[in-house]
Amino acid sequence: MKTVTLNNGIEMPQMGYGVYQVSPSECERCVSDALQTGYRMIDTAQAYYNEEGVGNAVKKSGINRQDIFLVSKVWISNYGYEKAKASIDESLRRLQTDYIDLMLLHQPFCDRYGAYRALEEAYKEGKLRAIGVSNFYPDHFIDLASNVEIVPAVNQVETHVFDQQIEPQKIMEEFGTHIMSWGPFAEGRNRFFTNPLLTEIGSKYGKTVAQVALRWLIQRGVIIIPKTTHIERMQQNIDIFNFELSAEDMTSIATLDTGKSAFFDHHDAETVRLFMSWR
Ligand code: NAP
Repeated sequence: MKTVTLNNGIEMPQMGYGVYQVSPSECERCVSDALQTGYRMIDTAQAYYNEEGVGNAVKKSGINRQDIFLVSKVWISNYGYEKAKASIDESLRRLQTDYIDLMLLHQPFCDRYGAYRALEEAYKEGKLRAIGVSNFYPDHFIDLASNVEIVPAVNQVETHVFDQQIEPQKIMEEFGTHIMSWGPFAEGRNRFFTNPLLTEIGSKYGKTVAQVALRWLIQRGVIIIPKTTHIERMQQNIDIFNFELSAEDMTSIATLDTGKSAFFDHHDAETVRLFMSWR
């Protein structure tokens, strides 16, 4: 698996498997299938309520713990230094491991500075191999990255052909922070899987729309974690390292960018109110 080197020198697979909206009961089976298919990085979160299923699958896989890269995220109801610190230990317990490879703050709201200090402390104690953030768009990202001791290694943000994050990626790179995509297929929104341009490009290489969309992210240096509960799609999604999109294809895919989220805007008052109801 292709890897990227994070700002603290650790190697992270550039492709992994995400388990958002994978039910706790199905999670163990899905992660087992993903590991069997060849995925070696798993992205979960406290808010997905399936860390335990991830831990079970890793334990039962027989694969060395050092060969699997685990990512999780602290939810906002656990923000503030003390609560975040306790929640990291809870995540370790549910994942049945004594370290997490990458722990992120899930959202840029509430007492994020207190929570980030807990990440920094757990990093220094060896409980976390790298730390970072998620959904920190340039305003929140520059603010936090400029005011913490350990600059985020990763910022996981919505990134796909319709919301490409070109400028935000440049800003992250100024800080040595790696961009990681969530929703690489926009969860199928905007008729993603039948997009005419992606279909046409795919037909040249004998690849599906999903494979073109993922390959385009890989060539931009983005870390990806597509989700599917189907093993055939897990196989299809990881089968993207045997072709290369031409510079011309990369340029034409750039025209699909709307510069807008396919889900919600983290700067919109109603969105922020919604997050406040989930504290
Ligand atoms: P996504 O990966 O963009 O899309 C998943 C959807 O695409 C599912 O409906 C899946 O269906 C379908 N799909 C997958 N592969 C396919 C293929 N080859 N052909 C056709 N359909 C396919 O959405 P996501 O789950 O939101 O994002 C990926 C991961 O990012 C998550 O699992 C999570 O780990 C992370 N994430 C993080 C945040 C955050 O706030 N940090 C937010 C959202 C997601 P089936 O499952 O039925 O196959």
